[in-house]
Amino acid sequence: MNTPYDVVVVGGGVAGLSAALCLVRAGVSVCVLERTDYAAWRPGETLSPVTWAELRQLLAPEPLATEGFLESQGLEATWGSERPHHHSFLANPYGSGWHVERRHLDALLAHHAGRLQVPLWRDTCVTQLEREGHGWRVRIRTPQGPAELRCEALVDATGRSAWVARQQGVRRREWDALCSVSGIIDRPPGFQEQHLVVEATPQGWWYAAPLPGGRLILTLLSDVDVLQRLGALRPAGWSALFRATRHLRERVGGVEAVTRLQVRRCETSRLEHAAGEGWVAVGDAAAMWDPLSSSGILKGLRTGRASARALCAAREGDSGALEDYARQQAAEFNRYLSARQAHYALEQRWATEDFWRRRLDAGPPTSLTARATGAVATSVP
Ligand SMILES: Cc1cc2nc3c(=O)[nH]c(=O)nc-3n(C[C@H](O)[C@H](O)[C@H](O)COP(=O)(O)OP(=O)(O)OC[C@H]3O[C@@H](n4cnc5c(N)ncnc54)[C@H](O)[C@@H]3O)c2cc1C
Repeated sequence: MNTPYDVVVVGGGVAGLSAALCLVRAGVSVCVLERTDYAAWRPGETLSPVTWAELRQLLAPEPLATEGFLESQGLEATWGSERPHHHSFLANPYGSGWHVERRHLDALLAHHAGRLQVPLWRDTCVTQLEREGHGWRVRIRTPQGPAELRCEALVDATGRSAWVARQQGVRRREWDALCSVSGIIDRPPGFQEQHLVVEATPQGWWYAAPLPGGRLILTLLSDVDVLQRLGALRPAGWSALFRATRHLRERVGGVEAVTRLQVRRCETSRLEHAAGEGWVAVGDAAAMWDPLSSSGILKGLRTGRASARALCAAREGDSGALEDYARQQAAEFNRYLSARQAHYALEQRWATEDFWRRRLDAGPPTSLTARATGAVATSVP
């Protein structure tokens, strides 16, 4: 603890661990602080083929063990009309996608970090940050009691809370009030194929994804006020909305067994600045994308890598490196916003319903073929 680190990564999700792995390979001394022990449920269970390729690259030359993961054959989306559109990963140059138990994926990356001798403090929270010269004094609470670390730079990988950035007074801009409500059931006989199913409904949209261990996750996404109005944050209201789906209900049958729901805010949002003096934000801390993109994990992995490059450049004297990183994140977010708008504009059937009206205000569709080609889940950069 007395030896200062070059970088302390706050948050040991995919983005923080990607940053840590890239930094340690570049010869930077780094440690990761993670507030949990990876036991609780986490959202994000579908990896597109390109996400899988990015993961393999991050862990290379170590192989990526697929034990406990389910190969995903593609997706089926009912979006814009009653007719489902299929997209198979068979011809994808990156191969198939995968369905994972997300906390196991994060724990797997944490394990790899351990093999590279990256200290990872589980069940540890940062309680205070203080600027000390050009570096930081980081006060933490560990299971063994309070402690203190010193470092040159910080990576904010705390997900939606963007704890480090907020401590620096950086604000977050929000574009919607999207929220997910998920229930997990045993995978029914009508759902043996291993692919993602998406269905748009008047109140929002649903997805169903197979999980390892013969289970299935069903998630409703809508704005938090719509969900509250419809009572969908509780099992009875959520099940009633599920019964109003068409394709999913036919495949899944009843969801009466769901007595516990997982609720997560997932609004499209970004920090006004994704970096500042001595810190950078990665993954959801920097920006949150709609789960419709199925690209949050890919973004986490890539921003982790890009932040490591920027931090290394800054250490070598490039005084504009962190600012460049922040500018690139802002540009990437604008590209994402255009893609999001185009995808929502493909669904015009319920244009007067609150959820859709709020998303359709922005203009006509720009890519009518996106859904049919599976771009809903794979094309957002
Ligand atoms: C319902 C839903 C479904 C989704 N489905 C997909 C999908 O299928 N595919 C996909 O690619 N993406 C999906 N996403 C998006 C994806 O889950 C996120 O983009 C991704 O988890 C972001 O990773 P991250 O590492 O930035 O943040 P997180 O996964 O949120 O990790 C943040 C980490 O920081 C830790 N932490 C937080 N605060 C502190 C603190 N103060 N001190 C120490 N540690 C802290 C947390 O415990 C956590 O481990 C989905 C999101 C939702 C809500």
